[in-house]
Amino acid sequence: MDENQRAILDGLAALYPDASPELHFTNPYETLVATILAAQCTDARVNQVTPAVFRDFPDAKAMAQTTPEVLYPYVKSCGFRSKAVNIVNACKMIVERFGGEVPSTLEELTQLPGVGRKTANVVLAFSFGIPAIPVDTHVFRVSNRLGLADADTVEETERQLMEAIPRDKWNPSHHWMIYHGRRVCHSQKPDCDHCPLRPYCKAVHLDHMINPKQDVKARAQARKARQAEGETSNA
Ligand code: SF4
Repeated sequence: MDENQRAILDGLAALYPDASPELHFTNPYETLVATILAAQCTDARVNQVTPAVFRDFPDAKAMAQTTPEVLYPYVKSCGFRSKAVNIVNACKMIVERFGGEVPSTLEELTQLPGVGRKTANVVLAFSFGIPAIPVDTHVFRVSNRLGLADADTVEETERQLMEAIPRDKWNPSHHWMIYHGRRVCHSQKPDCDHCPLRPYCKAVHLDHMINPKQDVKARAQARKARQAEGETSNA
């Protein structure tokens, strides 16, 4: 981690000392269900529907015995019917293969229907206390704008962040970046004029912070330009 990255992490920690998950859950099963529902949906909306879901389907065994048709009305306001299908099928697999307990490794979690790396990392980090950096849209955008990462994909962003950030800061830094993305470094109109991290931010100096797609494009162009420069100076 270079000096600038250290200043960014210290700045994020100072800005959001109480950052914590905004989704409500109390155990690995609830974490899994809430995180699947949260894809392309707000945490506030998910928090509205999960009390009834967890009341009527209190664990993976109970969820495995229902059907997507029964579950869907509970979670309809969180979007896609496929979420209900994935939750029921994931719980069936948890019962059949893992004895009814949500597994605690990335490899096992990502076998579950509807569970990608991000969801698996959320479960690992916040239910099992295993250090992980779940890269959602906020973490992807904020980390690449700030210069904690310089990557075009979530997988590469996760790898670079794990390399740059000390392991004991993986879980909290994930929250810091989400908080910053939601409160200041918005996707379309980042509030750079009032951002305390502006002095350290790579994007603000490169002027390509308008939206994540443009970020990716701009980074690719900047990378090509750097490569071309390197080729010229090596020639
Ligand atoms: S200066 Fe702007 S782009 Fe950089 S982190 Fe702050 S809000 Fe985001």
